[in-house]
Amino acid sequence: MLQVKDISFGYLKNPILQNINFEVNSGEHLSIIGESGSGKSTLLKLLYGEMDLNEGQIFWKDTEILGPKHNLVVGYDFMKYVAQEFDLMPFITVAENIGKHLSNFYPEEKQARIKELLDIVELTEFANIKVKLLSGGQKQRVALARALANEPEILLLDEPFSHIDNFKKQSLRRNLFNYLKDHHITCIVASHDKEDVLPYSDTMIVLDNHKIVANHTPKYLFENPETPLIASFFGEFNMIDDQIIYAHQIQVVEHSKLKATVKKCYFKGPYFLIEANLEGATIFFENKDCIEENKKVSLVIKP
Ligand code: ADP
Ligand code: MG
Repeated sequence: MLQVKDISFGYLKNPILQNINFEVNSGEHLSIIGESGSGKSTLLKLLYGEMDLNEGQIFWKDTEILGPKHNLVVGYDFMKYVAQEFDLMPFITVAENIGKHLSNFYPEEKQARIKELLDIVELTEFANIKVKLLSGGQKQRVALARALANEPEILLLDEPFSHIDNFKKQSLRRNLFNYLKDHHITCIVASHDKEDVLPYSDTMIVLDNHKIVANHTPKYLFENPETPLIASFFGEFNMIDDQIIYAHQIQVVEHSKLKATVKKCYFKGPYFLIEANLEGATIFFENKDCIEENKKVSLVIKP
């Protein structure tokens, strides 16, 4: 189990994280979400022991994670970290980068392992290409494969799919997170993309104003968003009578007391997002079809 016990940290005098507490069981997946600058990357670096805590303690099982002040070499064998700025060896091939930390003692096993990892990140046909020739997204996939090479007990991922295009993202997420679950690897992901979080995370924590403001399952937080920040992570929403109402909760009906005037339609694929005026306030709701401008519609709010 990972235990984060009342940690605080700041760069110089600026507090970034204050009194952070959470736990992650072995094999579980936790997401860290929060606005840009809320301290997600900082928290991952602290979990990795890259910086010294101002207060508190971090444990993985019985081992205390210590920063550079107490630890000559940063990092631990049981933990791997893929930073937002992944650093690879540009002048050697994809396969060589992935196998960099694998033992040469059993060359056949090593090659089989590299092949398996190339398959997970869908880079088999790039095995012998030098990394400097790859796109940003391909490099990110090499960094992910390299982190898995010597299977860690716990994996820290900072915005792991940020450079990867949508063609590859969906299948890569499935490959990676299913692999981690199957191999009982604990995973902590910093992300601002709900697609990384909702289908795969057991728990998500929300950072805001130096603190954890929510710590629950994605499903619970989706259904009970306590703050606009949390709701905004999941999608378009409205504040109506001080209540958070998602755009998909509002439906057009034949008759109701709630009347709005349509202002604009946005095509979203499976539906249109409709911008409308409700008693002087702008609201958004989803509808299968576009609705013409200035049309009056009757709405109901579904629970
Ligand atoms: P996030 O990953 O959520 O976007 P970060 O952890 O990168 O947030 O940054 C949190 C805050 O700490 C930001 O205000 C950022 O400017 C600041 N920060 C990050 N790294 C450093 C650093 N090395 N020195 C000083 N301030 C930093
Ligand atoms: Mg970051």
